[in-house]
Amino acid sequence: MIPMVDLKRQYNALKTEIDAAISDVLSQTQFILGPNVSKLEEEVAAYHGLPYAIGVANGTDALLLALRACGIKAGDEVITTPFTFIATAEVIALLNAKPVFVDICPDTFNVNPRLIEEKITKKTKAIIPVHLFGHPADMEPIMEIAKKYTLKVIEDCAQSFGAKYRDQLAGTMGDVGCFSFFPSKNLGGYGDGGMVITKSEDIARQIKMLRNHGSSVRYYHQELGYNSRLDEIQAAIIRVKLKRINQFNTARQQNAATYCVAIDNKDVILPAVASGCEHIYHQFTIRSKNRDTIAKALKDKDIASAVYYPVPLHQQEVFTKLFPHSTALPQSELCVKEVLSLPMFPELTKEEINLIADVINNAA
Ligand SMILES: *Cc1c(COP(=O)(O)O)cnc(C)c1O
Repeated sequence: MIPMVDLKRQYNALKTEIDAAISDVLSQTQFILGPNVSKLEEEVAAYHGLPYAIGVANGTDALLLALRACGIKAGDEVITTPFTFIATAEVIALLNAKPVFVDICPDTFNVNPRLIEEKITKKTKAIIPVHLFGHPADMEPIMEIAKKYTLKVIEDCAQSFGAKYRDQLAGTMGDVGCFSFFPSKNLGGYGDGGMVITKSEDIARQIKMLRNHGSSVRYYHQELGYNSRLDEIQAAIIRVKLKRINQFNTARQQNAATYCVAIDNKDVILPAVASGCEHIYHQFTIRSKNRDTIAKALKDKDIASAVYYPVPLHQQEVFTKLFPHSTALPQSELCVKEVLSLPMFPELTKEEINLIADVINNAA
């Protein structure tokens, strides 16, 4: 049995350190916004070379609070990709703003910058590029468009901690970078968690206030906020893993390289890496017209695979009800029929990868 992600292998390797970190929190009993949250914020900010990082309850809230801090409000339009997890667009609609979906590049699965400008209206206020599967979106043209139309850029980095675009880390190019520490993400805790990074003092101040009931001085409230704080125990666990994030990402890249050598099936398209990009393979996602046959062959050998994502967001029921007049987005609509993500985590072995590749090579 080979799962998509085996979190036990990593826990077993780090058990002594993680157990000690958790036990420290339990003896200090500072459970909310304690020293581990502050230290993790400093460490994540330093990793990215930015002045501010603010821990929040999860990646979805990271995006929601970032949109609020960027001034997104009812009636605004926010451009994003239809080929992502629901959270990216959900937060836009939760603020009564409108997600405007722009089709993707079929090779990197990320929003196609050449199709953005035609979707810009007077109401457009921001763009949320997603660095999907750990491959950075094409940020240079996105930032040029944002500058030309004075739009905010909120990077969804939930799947891309440590990925690079022309030597710049994901999350450092736009106004705000938003991370998720969901357990299966490439930097994951043992529960929910998230973080926002920014170079803007104003955005950082607002997010700190919003995560704590719109308050910067205890019991004095300036704005309607949220209870969205990063948990101290999660912060302690994530700090142990943050020290090794580059090592984990390198192991993912080595696993991807092994897959690329081992998979030899003319009906399979291997994941592309755009020039100047460093892909950290949060997912290893192939494309094939025979996707379902391959998935079945893997399942018969007790090997997991997954379709991320089966429905593009403009066709999700929640959005067809809210915004009935969506236009066709052919690349995304084709993509959801062909993509298949294979098991991927740093501790996956060469033997397992070769076994998976064998099954794929012998499937239709
Ligand atoms: C996981 C994910 C989120 C949401 O993160 P949570 O911590 O689960 O709330 C947002 N965007 C993308 C692209 C994700 O993969």
